[in-house]
Amino acid sequence: MDKNFQATFDQCPNCGSDQRFCEQLGQELKDRGLARPDWTFNYDVRNGVVMDGKYTQIHILSGATLPGFTIATDICMDCGTLYAVRLNRLEGEMKPMPRQGPIMPPISNPRFS
Ligand SMILES: [Zn+2]
Repeated sequence: MDKNFQATFDQCPNCGSDQRFCEQLGQELKDRGLARPDWTFNYDVRNGVVMDGKYTQIHILSGATLPGFTIATDICMDCGTLYAVRLNRLEGEMKPMPRQGPIMPPISNPRFS
């Protein structure tokens, strides 16, 4: 995949409608001057990097990057289909997990004993 992959979907993949529920809710705010003109309200926006939990954290080198993503979804007002309206492939820089030191017993404090 191209590291700058982006895609937008302006029509429902099921029925072809361009009427989206959350986008229109956001438009009501824009019409009242309560939101920026270039802002779009989505049903859900997820951001993240792709990783295999601790396996990736242990093996990744400092400064290395992982594939990241933004996925925005909305709901068709004509047929109810939930679909992706925007996909962005990103690069996420991961910092390796800090090495954990030995576990020390709590220091007793005479003020609290
Ligand atoms: Zn539809």
